[in-house]
Amino acid sequence: MSDAPRRAVFLDRDGTICEEMGYMNHISRLRVFPFAAAAIRRMNEAGLPVVVLTNQSGVGRKYFPESLVEVVHEKMAAELASGGAHVDAIYYCPHKGIDNCECRKPRPGMLERAAREHNLALEGSFFVSDRYEDLSMMYTAGGRGILVLTGYGRGEYEWCRGEWPRQPDYVAEDLSVAAEIITKEMA
Ligand SMILES: [Mg+2]
Ligand SMILES: [Zn+2]
Repeated sequence: MSDAPRRAVFLDRDGTICEEMGYMNHISRLRVFPFAAAAIRRMNEAGLPVVVLTNQSGVGRKYFPESLVEVVHEKMAAELASGGAHVDAIYYCPHKGIDNCECRKPRPGMLERAAREHNLALEGSFFVSDRYEDLSMMYTAGGRGILVLTGYGRGEYEWCRGEWPRQPDYVAEDLSVAAEIITKEMA
């Protein structure tokens, strides 16, 4: 493990790769965005590690079993694969906010674990999300952030940006545009 840590792209799941559906409590609610596979493939082809970090508190709330999270991720991976794309790892937090775990975003537990387990550098890396709090977490870790306007993004940007201490480094219509920005910035 003497190789230098690599810069990476961290992606939120709901509202970024697939439609924000509220609790994804059934596999039938998974709607991978039609542009997601091509966007992620573009980052794959640029040689960038792509890691997904998602909060799934519905598990901790007992709205659905943890096994469903795996099923959703298998289906998502299959849909991405049919578009020639893959993600290198997926981490999820199954806890509720009041559990006070270290992994629930915007706490940095999953980000730090992913960096450790995959030898990734956070500095210079990107987080792409429809929620500002994910970008804020990434800024604290020394990385950069892109807000996508899918999912909660458009509303967050319209109603909340006045409160943000650091604006998104980029605001992108969707993951496809974000991938364009990232592959240019990280070339
Ligand atoms: Mg989201
Ligand atoms: Zn957690």
